[in-house]
Amino acid sequence: IVRFRGVKKAFGAMTVLEGIDLDLYPGEKVVVIGPSGSGKTTLARMLMTLETPSGGEIEVDGEPLFTMVRRGRRVPADERHLARVRGKIGMVFQHFNLFPHMTVLRNVTEALIHVRRIPPEEARRRTMAMLERVGMAEHADKYPAQLSGGQKQRVAIARALVMEPKVMLFDEPTSALDPELVGEVLAVIKEIAAKGDMAMLLITHEMQFAREIADRIVFIDGGKIVEQGPPEEVLLRPKSERLKAFLARFR
Ligand code: ATP
Repeated sequence: IVRFRGVKKAFGAMTVLEGIDLDLYPGEKVVVIGPSGSGKTTLARMLMTLETPSGGEIEVDGEPLFTMVRRGRRVPADERHLARVRGKIGMVFQHFNLFPHMTVLRNVTEALIHVRRIPPEEARRRTMAMLERVGMAEHADKYPAQLSGGQKQRVAIARALVMEPKVMLFDEPTSALDPELVGEVLAVIKEIAAKGDMAMLLITHEMQFAREIADRIVFIDGGKIVEQGPPEEVLLRPKSERLKAFLARFR
């Protein structure tokens, strides 16, 4: 459902990613781990078209993200193409990015009504069902400032899910939370992973969570995929010295 092919990214003279090949199959849950600064967020930002690769291509649902065909020729994608393909992906970031001036309910219905053109009553019904699922239905009329970080993040998850994306992308969804709030957010993500047939790409430093949720773990270091495989293999029997050193920090 997502395919990175030879994806490179440099910022000026600094190469952050040097040729990433990564496939995400329908329904698959892939967790990306790696040291700070290894390029994990950059990978996620390219998938969300917030950054453009310096080389290579990303495909979503069989379609190239950054190029499109115009009069039989491949040309750089325009904003309409990017927005359309990006619409297949739901994202949850470290910082919740809720609209502060809108209630929880409106935060979630907004894109359904104005992007998907779903009638307001139907949008409200779907939103309430989704808020129920993340345990936030009783807070529907509150504003983000009245919520804890964990509650905000659960609203952000509902807002992404309600659009019925083919892929959910989570970039360190708990790293901005107070420790006591991490559990409730991870529980919601686990529940979605268990029920959903949606593919998920997660970047996290929560190793126990990674082990429980992942079909496959990908370790990135120095701009490359160094190792990947099932959680037991990658986390319990690391092969490379770099992965061993990285994991030692979590013991
Ligand atoms: P962390 O776990 O700390 O979030 P990460 O693996 O997600 O780290 P990235 O955020 O992708 O790492 O950053 C990789 C490198 O790219 C870092 O050295 C960062 O300073 C650099 N970088 C990221 N974005 C930009 C930018 N817009 N301009 C210049 N350098 C950038």
